[in-house]
Amino acid sequence: MTRLQEVNRTSGFLKKALETMPSGKRTEYLNRKLRGIIRYAHSHSPAVRDKLHSAGMAPKDIQTVKHLQHLSITKKTDLIDLQKKDPPFGGFLGIPITELRRIYVSPGPLHEPGEADYDEIAWAQAMFAGGFRPGDRVINTFSYHMVPFALHMLDNSLHQLRCITIPTGVGNTEQQVHVLRNLKVTGFCGTPSFLLSIAEKAEEMGLTPSKDLSLRVGLVAAEMVSESLRSRLEEKFDMVIRQSYGTADIGCLGYECMEKNGMHIPDDKLVEIVDPQTGKQLPFETPGEIVGTTFNRVYPLIRFGTGDLSLLTNKPCPCGRTSPRLVKILGRIDQTTKVRGLFVHPGQVDEMASRYPEIARYRMLVTREEHKDLITFQVELREGTLPNDRMKEDVERTIRDVIKLRGEVQFVARGTIPDGARKIEDQRTWD
Ligand SMILES: [Zn+2]
Repeated sequence: MTRLQEVNRTSGFLKKALETMPSGKRTEYLNRKLRGIIRYAHSHSPAVRDKLHSAGMAPKDIQTVKHLQHLSITKKTDLIDLQKKDPPFGGFLGIPITELRRIYVSPGPLHEPGEADYDEIAWAQAMFAGGFRPGDRVINTFSYHMVPFALHMLDNSLHQLRCITIPTGVGNTEQQVHVLRNLKVTGFCGTPSFLLSIAEKAEEMGLTPSKDLSLRVGLVAAEMVSESLRSRLEEKFDMVIRQSYGTADIGCLGYECMEKNGMHIPDDKLVEIVDPQTGKQLPFETPGEIVGTTFNRVYPLIRFGTGDLSLLTNKPCPCGRTSPRLVKILGRIDQTTKVRGLFVHPGQVDEMASRYPEIARYRMLVTREEHKDLITFQVELREGTLPNDRMKEDVERTIRDVIKLRGEVQFVARGTIPDGARKIEDQRTWD
């Protein structure tokens, strides 16, 4: 019996009825939740009222998720501006301020309200799907100061799951190791890189994490975990690690289940993938900006633009959850370039290069000649590898395969691509 099987951590649901709704029922459910929050926010949150009015719409005009795309998107920078004009919450607060329990301050500066009765289920769903179970002792290594993530979102969600939280916060790796050991801690919340620091510290202290520590499950967030780091950590500790995606403003927007094939949308959030230029919704499997809407009456963020690029899939997941999944976070929208009408993002450039161990450095140039966009994939080869036509043709096929556009490979001498060069260099001029 492996350590994971001592408790059934790999199957089951936190909210079965919600998580397994058939697709038609889910659409109805989301439309109903959306109508509810729009009606509520229109009468309680001046910022949402303005948003509707400036689109020439009344709450009755938003009956389905499709109608939502007529409203403007609020970016983080917009939120900062709105909060400056109308402090502290930019008009989004949906309850009297005297009813708040806390006010959080994130970099920006941005204020986030903390209600007395936290009832969002998104992070708890993420934890349950990642194998957390009642009775787990969990170190929460995110910062408890100022920002809402550790204290408001995670601590409350661990409590919902009836886990026992040890609020260790960030840093102090040696002390974290002592805590892990003395309290036989079974769960970890934090960044993957911090978990690696803990592993290294434990080894430095003469411990074998998989034998001397009791970690079984980890929920990582705030930075994406690479598969190589994930398997390294899972092996070191003999644990499972699942990641989730969210922001301090809107909370969790996606979480992995045991299948590890994308991040399910939690049932108290609505996620759209949109064309960042027009704000219009894009079909499944098409990359665009992640825009989130929460059903939270305290802080009803309607169409919050994350600036992150991803795509949604609704292919069935063997875990039984029926919510669509964010396939993966592909990068930031502001690093994305539109070429001949298609988005090209740095993740795709990395993917192309990763297929060829011979490639040492690379970047993609986008230029314009006679009103046509041209793609050049500049490649520096590792020492001992010589450019050849076969490889050129092969990489050009890969370009078509990955970004669906034709591009030309240009082998350049080592040292040509400057340090810190952007993965996609847009050199087009428009006149
Ligand atoms: Zn799943």
